[in-house]
Amino acid sequence: MKVLLNERQLQQGVDRLAAEISAAWGPRPMTMIGVLNGCIVFIADLIRRLKMPVRIELIQASSYRGQTTRGPLRLAADRQLEIRGRHVLLVDDILDTGHTLAALQNRLREAGAASVRTAVLLRKAGCQEVEIHADFVGFELPDQFVVGYGLDYRDQLRNLPYLAAMEPDDFPPAGQQNTFSGG
Ligand code: 5GP
Ligand code: MG
Repeated sequence: MKVLLNERQLQQGVDRLAAEISAAWGPRPMTMIGVLNGCIVFIADLIRRLKMPVRIELIQASSYRGQTTRGPLRLAADRQLEIRGRHVLLVDDILDTGHTLAALQNRLREAGAASVRTAVLLRKAGCQEVEIHADFVGFELPDQFVVGYGLDYRDQLRNLPYLAAMEPDDFPPAGQQNTFSGG
């Protein structure tokens, strides 16, 4: 594996994002909706840097993927999100094809959110397949499969304190792959 962002760089990125979000948001209350499971480390760091009143909700979204390919998006069975009339910040770990965030944004608007903005720690340059605008982006990355700081490979490696790119030798030989990834 190759380290792309060390702990210090990640913290600086979150500092920068929190400052940007605070400046754009002002003092009004925020309903933050984190996309499980990948968001956990990121939002834990982000929320402690925000000063406006923040409510937090978490939703589950996951896709089946092999090493780097996405499958159908599955959202957890409809939970009643209490967001009618609220200003929402949707937070995910990484913006890749954009299908996840686009689907979630629609769902939040349908549920009556007053506004929906999005923040992602990472965006893969040139990978977006659907029209989607992320309002706040921590870091741009080239198209590679990354792990750590909340992001998994087959549900492992979320606990790495840094962000790393998987290299060909890190993947098991073909035929031994279990392709489930838990978001
Ligand atoms: P999208 O719907 O934008 O293609 O995919 C977004 C979701 O796919 C993210 O929330 C994340 O769970 C997963 N994902 C996309 N790229 C990567 C990656 O490089 N590493 C990991 N661990 N997950 C990824
Ligand atoms: Mg995810």
